[in-house]
Amino acid sequence: MNVSDSEIVMGVMEKSGYRSVDAPGKADVILLNTCAIRDNAERKIHERLMHLKHFKKQNRDLVVGVLGCMAERLRDKLLEKDLVDIVVGPDEYRKVPALVNDALEGEKGIAVRLSRVETYDDIQPLRTEGVSAWVSVMRGCDKFCTFCVVPFTRGRERSRNALNIVNELAMLADSGFKEATLLGQNVNSYNDDERGLDFADLLDACARAVPHMRLRYTTSHPQDMSNKLIETMAMHQNICKHIHLPIQSGSNRILKLMNRTYTTDHYLLLVEKIRNAMPEAALSTDIIAGFCTETDSEHQETLDVMRTVRYDGAYMFAYSPRENTKAWKMGDDVPDEVKARRLNDIITLQNSISREMNETEIGKIFGVLVEGPSKKNQMEWKGRTDTNKTVIFPHDDVRGYVVGDIVNIVIERSSSATLYGRLL
Ligand code: SF4
Repeated sequence: MNVSDSEIVMGVMEKSGYRSVDAPGKADVILLNTCAIRDNAERKIHERLMHLKHFKKQNRDLVVGVLGCMAERLRDKLLEKDLVDIVVGPDEYRKVPALVNDALEGEKGIAVRLSRVETYDDIQPLRTEGVSAWVSVMRGCDKFCTFCVVPFTRGRERSRNALNIVNELAMLADSGFKEATLLGQNVNSYNDDERGLDFADLLDACARAVPHMRLRYTTSHPQDMSNKLIETMAMHQNICKHIHLPIQSGSNRILKLMNRTYTTDHYLLLVEKIRNAMPEAALSTDIIAGFCTETDSEHQETLDVMRTVRYDGAYMFAYSPRENTKAWKMGDDVPDEVKARRLNDIITLQNSISREMNETEIGKIFGVLVEGPSKKNQMEWKGRTDTNKTVIFPHDDVRGYVVGDIVNIVIERSSSATLYGRLL
């Protein structure tokens, strides 16, 4: 979401005559787009700001801005830092050029009002990469999970006009993009009121409009994922068969404390429906270890759900209390070493499940979208299956395939994170 927002900000800035440069030392303006979801994400931004001091010393007129969720959360506290000139929340990006101009004249500025209508529907994001695109379809979240700052930093749910989204995808296809991920904090709440379209309708319209493009979406909330959406995914070959479905905990008591509004039974039924409709689909999830008052037996329930579902992958974190959320007031009573042990159990189990799941892919043939050279070895290339698994395969100049092609790869070996194969 932040990559997509940064592209929106770059689109706004470019319209005002700014252009991007490839190194901070060459810049007159440095904008940091930030995340506030976990304490660690904010700590990294403080470190990055310390690092930017060096550039400010070299260029006294340099404008430094903090954008995004951390800007929304900390507001003018950030301006107290000498280094920071502007602070802009996620719904005020249109004001960035004016605030930058003021800052260039020596005046600090802040814009952090949340909006009920802003979707940046008319802004052309400035995309820098030509294979996969992020397309924001809705903003904000009304779910108010008790651990989450998003409803406070990104505001209430609002959806973009479906026609504009479909047109944007058609433009992306025309300019050579091969894949797009539709983005929202909870895409299942997407609602184009004017046309009476829900997320399944939107996905269906997009799949028909760009039949040669791969489509993905994230993130789904298990309470709102409809049968219609599952059927729509199953119906279209170009909708990737990967679903990110955050469970967070396997304990119904903890889910209730988190205000997740579903039970494990509901969740497991949903997984069954997905697997019945799309047996080849990959599932991934988010898990929080050590939420307030979580007991060892409740932690075991999380491990049980993981064993039942057998996720292909997971984002796993120790609980990090966020100020002003409901969970903040519940206390953070699980000691750090217990959180660390539980997180380690979760990661160890997930790694072994991922390894086993990936072993079952050996011998299968996948259509892999070529993304570019592998980071570890320039002689090898990297791509992704439609189930979102990373595949490494030898570079083969003779065949002449290029970044953005979909090539058939037969899988020969695997690890918990990666599949390795060769071109058929
Ligand atoms: S649904 Fe996701 S974004 Fe919304 S409050 Fe819950 S965790 Fe946060």
